[in-house]
Amino acid sequence: MKTAVVTGGGSGIGLAIAERLSADGHHVATLDLKPAGPGFAQAADVTDRAQVDLALAAVRERHGPIAILVNAAGMDGFKRFTRLEFADWQRVIDVNLNGVFHCVQAVLPDMLEAGWGRIVNISSSSAQSGQQLMAHYVAAKSAVNGLTKALALEFGPAGITVNAVPPGFIDTPMLRRAEERERLGGTVEDHIQRTPVRRVGRPEDIAAACSFLVSEEAGYITGQILGVNGGRNT
Ligand code: NAD
Repeated sequence: MKTAVVTGGGSGIGLAIAERLSADGHHVATLDLKPAGPGFAQAADVTDRAQVDLALAAVRERHGPIAILVNAAGMDGFKRFTRLEFADWQRVIDVNLNGVFHCVQAVLPDMLEAGWGRIVNISSSSAQSGQQLMAHYVAAKSAVNGLTKALALEFGPAGITVNAVPPGFIDTPMLRRAEERERLGGTVEDHIQRTPVRRVGRPEDIAAACSFLVSEEAGYITGQILGVNGGRNT
């Protein structure tokens, strides 16, 4: 049993990951804008280092040092690049990329002390394929994949693995909001017909990959980008 922190654990993919790690027997704490999710739910904005530090201090007090971190907090955004204001760009980079910086840096001392750690960053299949109207989001998620590789090299010798899971087309509130706003280029049903396994992804599909990557037996896997997308991107 280890202590696991899941950011964005209040909804969708993060919630499913938190539930799965809890079922796997870990002490789970979630960090989200609104405190929600299973286990020890903490309110924190991942873009605010002081809030992250405060929430993690509460987690350590309750469950001891943090051994597992899954960064699932994220926000999308849809705008033509010519209409994208710098503030839009900055906010999407802040949540999706800088949030990962803060959370990883804040938990690393525990992992270094223990000589063991598991970090999984939830990026996006759009970093593989590109996505129109999402230049800021694609840039941020691509950077998360790069950050994952760099950290894997830096902290492998310390017993810490760092991997990324880019989801593709997972049925969550984020996806359904995009469908409602007609940002998907078709309905979810249309996309299912273009997906090799002929179904929409479930948050549990991402949770299963995370459960494996944070396990003891995944210790020889690091710096990898494990696509979970029904074969939409290979
Ligand atoms: P979601 O909107 O259902 O959940 C995202 C969660 O992150 C929410 O609970 C939200 O409150 C939280 N969050 C947002 N900004 C935050 C902040 N600043 N600080 C703390 N928490 C914050 O979305 P989801 O679909 O479950 O997405 C989870 C992750 O998966 C995101 O990183 C998203 O970019 C990524 N993703 C999702 C899909 C998909 O198809 N759903 C595809 C590719 C990538």
